[in-house]
Amino acid sequence: MNKDISQAVIRRMPRYYRYLGELLDEGVERISSNELSLKMNVTASQIRQDLNNFGGFGQQGYGYNVQYLYEEIGRILGLEQRHNIIIIGVGNLGQALANYSSFEKMGFVITGLFDINPDLEGRIVGRIPVRMLRELEPFAATHKVDIAALTMPKYTADKIANRLVNLGIRAIWNFAHIDLELMDKDVVVENVHLSDSLMQLSYNMMRSQKERKKEFAKKNETSSKQ
Ligand code: NAD
Repeated sequence: MNKDISQAVIRRMPRYYRYLGELLDEGVERISSNELSLKMNVTASQIRQDLNNFGGFGQQGYGYNVQYLYEEIGRILGLEQRHNIIIIGVGNLGQALANYSSFEKMGFVITGLFDINPDLEGRIVGRIPVRMLRELEPFAATHKVDIAALTMPKYTADKIANRLVNLGIRAIWNFAHIDLELMDKDVVVENVHLSDSLMQLSYNMMRSQKERKKEFAKKNETSSKQ
């Protein structure tokens, strides 16, 4: 059933999940798509369409059961399973990820940290010791690794990513600013670029400034005519 669901829909699911989690914390038991739409600033029909991809979940006149919908979206996103993550590159970004405890609440558990800097060897970051990259193979042989996060310089990313793929790791969370060329095309890659988000913010700031200027000019024009 979930086969042809567009990535655009999938990308909206975590936001639904977050909002529903907040509603649960507030003790809300059910919500209509209209109420959810006001809260999330998405049209009610978009919400209904999105959720209909997975079979609906709502009842006419009743709305959505928040707990049920939260759990179902969590299941769709695969959050009922634990995911073990290793981080390659324990610099500024790698340490920030390792120290962020909220991932664990969603079942993303950081179990290994790897770097090549001997000064970092054995240092504890977010409860885990930093290992040297040469220990990657023995680690992967004895620990289940579901996801590898790449937070080292981009020029090493391809080589390391393929080394991880050879170890049987099927998912890469890629922060290095490079499009990975993987030998195995079935491995899933999620690229994260915080700078893309900043550029989008910059664009929207510019647009909103222009609109404010236009409105200001329009107001001046009408008041000078009066
Ligand atoms: P950093 O210099 O603080 O950390 C990089 C770490 O990688 C260092 O500890 C270094 O020893 C280690 N390293 C170098 N080569 C390695 C290798 N072959 N194997 C394992 N570890 C290795 O840098 P940072 O600020 O943490 O940034 C890390 C990476 O993330 C960079 O590629 C940077 O461009 C990228 N980055 C991406 C985003 C994003 O939004 N995608 C944001 C910030 C940084």
